[in-house]
Amino acid sequence: MSTISIHPAVDKGVAAGSDDFGGGKLHCHCSDRQVEVTVEAQCAHNHVCGCTKCWKPDGALFSMVAVVPRDRLSVTANEDKLEVVDASAAIQRHACKACGVHMFGRIENTDHPFHGLDFIHTELSDERGWAAPEFAAFTSSIIESGTPPDEMGAIRARLQELGLTPYDCLSPPLMDAIATHTAKAKGVL
Ligand SMILES: [Zn+2]
Ligand SMILES: [Zn+2]
Repeated sequence: MSTISIHPAVDKGVAAGSDDFGGGKLHCHCSDRQVEVTVEAQCAHNHVCGCTKCWKPDGALFSMVAVVPRDRLSVTANEDKLEVVDASAAIQRHACKACGVHMFGRIENTDHPFHGLDFIHTELSDERGWAAPEFAAFTSSIIESGTPPDEMGAIRARLQELGLTPYDCLSPPLMDAIATHTAKAKGVL
């Protein structure tokens, strides 16, 4: 096995999701009074992300993050422990004040291309069947977290080996979706 730890959920290989999976519960890392988020939907666009904003487990180079419709997500226990990490960010990341785990990210700007979708980390769920990660986003950004640039070749090769094509922004379909939203807003499409 590779010595490079991309993320614990993919380091032993990417497990496929289940077609008939309908969601589950996410829990923070607290031993007491865990924050619980209930998601009543399969996730979409799951991927590993190298940006400096997404929550990553200890020792992982990447986060793993997916989206679900915001009306299918609710906080079902200990909501008082949540706080927004950075209120000025496009994605409002709601984190547990005690353990620091990000439970969900929400976009409040109705003009944002991804408004209506919440960002979640499916590894926080005990349920199996969440749609598998499909690609790696913002790969070069792991340098901003301290990864030496000369390790990038080996890391990109490992991502390819796992079937997670590395991109330095989002994947082409998602970049196209953002550009389409922008073009429609400008009236050129
Ligand atoms: Zn917690
Ligand atoms: Zn990210």
